Formats: sequence, structure tokens, C-alpha cells
Amino acid sequence: MGANPRSGVLLDRDGVLNDVILRGGRSYPPESVEALRILPDVPAALALLKGCGLPLIVVTNQPDVGSGKQSLEVVEAIHDHLRAALPLDSIEVCFHTDADDCACRKPRTGMLEAAARRHGIDLRASYLVGDRWRDIEAGQRVGCTTFWIDRGYSEKQPSSPDYRVSTLLEASRQILELRAPDATSNAGQSPTSASNPTERPTREYSE
Ligand SMILES: [Mg+2]
Ligand SMILES: [Zn+2]
Repeated sequence: MGANPRSGVLLDRDGVLNDVILRGGRSYPPESVEALRILPDVPAALALLKGCGLPLIVVTNQPDVGSGKQSLEVVEAIHDHLRAALPLDSIEVCFHTDADDCACRKPRTGMLEAAARRHGIDLRASYLVGDRWRDIEAGQRVGCTTFWIDRGYSEKQPSSPDYRVSTLLEASRQILELRAPDATSNAGQSPTSASNPTERPTREYSE
């Protein structure tokens, strides 16, 4: 351990922990426990993060519950399955739609702030991993270091995430590198990240 106990990792659910259903280039959540498929790199990625003592907190928008397209029971069954399969500390959920105008639906920050209070973490010393602009913007609003898993969706792109990666495992390796004792002198320059172009800061890619 020896890790800063005030840091944590905030994880989006769909497209980060589990595969999404793709239709016409857009992503949708699995519709049942049977359709839930944890992405292959995720157990190893979470083990790395757990190994340095970081709390793992899921923060997920599930508006299909609020709109009536999905039942609360199915979403809770999916979360029970994720909790059983993965070393998650908690799963925070916003069930609202935009029309509800709640404080918790990403990119709003209520869900992240509640999780931070409950787990005693400092969001400005924490990391957020997501696959859509709402995740990244929520993380940016509270000062997290943000990791965008770019899955090539045909939709609005996030604006200036700190890192663009292909998998949660890449994000986890980068987080470990940032937390290494010599991270300040080596940020973005170490042989590890230089050898993997997807781990470079996205500002080199954007525009
Ligand atoms: Mg997602
Ligand atoms: Zn909400």
C-alpha cells in the first residue's frame, strides 16, 4: 500500500466494465443479466488498481429506468452480478433522464460528490474513466484526472480528456505510472508510455 488514501477511481459502467450493445454506431446498455459481458481486460485492470489501495467506485447513468424502458430489478440484478464478479467498493446510480433535471446525472457532479463524501476521497486527487463525453465532462468539473476509452462511437466526442486509451487496462497502467514516486519527472516521457501511443495525452490527438 502506501498509496495516498485520499485518491480513488471513479468508473463508468457500460463500455468500461462491461461491453455495450452497438446499433448504428451508438452504444446501449445490456438489457439483461444474461446479456452482460464483462470486458476481458477488466479483472486484471481492477486488480492493479486495488493493489495500490485505490477505492473503486462505479458512477453510472441508467436513464432507461427513469424513462420506463428498463426495470429497476434488472439493473439491480446486473449490479449484483458486477459486485460478485469484480472488486468494486460501491456502485452509484442515477436513474434520471435529462427531463428530470436532477443533480446526479452526468455531466452533473452530484453522484461523484456523494461518492467522494462516502468514501472520504478527494476528487481532485482522483481518476475518472469513461467512454462518453458525459463521463469526461463530469470528471473535469470536479478536478479528476480523466481517461477516455475511445470505442469509436458515432456521437459527440469528449473535449480534452487528460488521456485517451483503448481499454481500462491501459488506463490502469497509466494511473499506476502517474502514482509512481518519480511520476513528476517522467510524466508522459517514460519508456512505458512512449512505447504505447494510446497512452499519450490526448492533446496530441485532438483537432
Ligand atoms: Mg459508458
Ligand atoms: Zn439523477
